[in-house]
Amino acid sequence: MSPRGQAPDTARPTTLGRALMLVHTGYGVRSELTDRLGLTRTATGTVLRDLEHLRLVRTIPGPRPERGGTGRPSHRVEIHPDAPVALGVQVHYESVALLDVGLGGVAGQIVEHRLPRPATPEAVLGLVADLVAARLATASKRCVGLGLALPSAVAGNGTALAALHLNWPVGVPVASITGDLLAARGHRIPVLVGNDANLAALAEHRHGAGAGASDLLYVTTGQCGVGGGLVLDGRLHTGSAGYALEVGHIPVRPGGRPCHCGSLGCLDVEADPSALLAEAGLPTPEPIMPAARALVAASASDPAARAAVLAVTRRLAAGLASLVNVFNPDRVVLGGLHADLLAVAAAELRDEVARRSYLDQAARVPIVAGRLAQPGLLGAAEVALQPLLDDPRTVLRQDRSAHHPEYRPQGTSS
Ligand SMILES: [Zn+2]
Repeated sequence: MSPRGQAPDTARPTTLGRALMLVHTGYGVRSELTDRLGLTRTATGTVLRDLEHLRLVRTIPGPRPERGGTGRPSHRVEIHPDAPVALGVQVHYESVALLDVGLGGVAGQIVEHRLPRPATPEAVLGLVADLVAARLATASKRCVGLGLALPSAVAGNGTALAALHLNWPVGVPVASITGDLLAARGHRIPVLVGNDANLAALAEHRHGAGAGASDLLYVTTGQCGVGGGLVLDGRLHTGSAGYALEVGHIPVRPGGRPCHCGSLGCLDVEADPSALLAEAGLPTPEPIMPAARALVAASASDPAARAAVLAVTRRLAAGLASLVNVFNPDRVVLGGLHADLLAVAAAELRDEVARRSYLDQAARVPIVAGRLAQPGLLGAAEVALQPLLDDPRTVLRQDRSAHHPEYRPQGTSS
């Protein structure tokens, strides 16, 4: 299966882009870059000089070989301090967060703001535009775009199909609305929109616990609902229209809780923080994550908490087993509260996935916790950096000549 979806996921990176992506994801030894690019030393040198000329990378001389040693030192290549950044914004159930991220995954300070109530699209996206405009007004580095992570399936043109937890109407054209709001504030930058869990998967693949996996399955739960993503050969699998990996609606409990999608017993309502609290007979407070995490921590000594943790862990395992059967991943990364469940019930989770999975390999699929603190935010910035990572020269040339970039991935509006 090859990854499909909208540009940039279908874009073929240039050689310059492939080299920049390697440095971006932590391959900094020049001899290693030469191997991975499949180029001669001379050709690699030319590519790196071009990237240096664009002020995207710089070369640090390697240590001289020991006296009497042979061979040349292998220089290190790192991201140039003047390289551009992208902005990532994540809309949560309770809040909105903003972060600027440079090449190499180097992040700045997170700005977080409570969602306005009612959290209508106009109110939320107006707040996003205000936060982004304020950040751009004081930015010291060039910004190549804004990535927006939403708790919704997102179509290829940047339209939120159904942000159910935010009570948004069906089909909000988020990319074009946000682009217009930013333009009205004097900022014309590309706006790219994606599903939050999809984007988190991409970030874990490039900078976290999914690094090096060829078929990475990511499943997570944050403030509300369950999401997932699949990264194949380094690219997000978005499906034909952008909706792939809506894992929350896999049924895991026949006749279970009613789901907002109209079905019963979906992973979304059987394995998220409120399901865990309900299993222990507790109410759903706001914010919910601290209460859910406290319950997981209490499961070490409290039998009722332990029973709730194991019940939800078994349902999560049922969902993972279905996904493992379909996708045959070589690694599963769990995020949010699911990583907490893994920390206290790893053996139970792994045994249940193996018991339920048809594929023999399932028992051997590594299941690990995510490593990034804010993977959705980082992933949002990743998609905004993607055009630069695919074709650095063209993006920087367009930027310099003040043309608006013509990428239309996941909804570009400017
Ligand atoms: Zn459902």
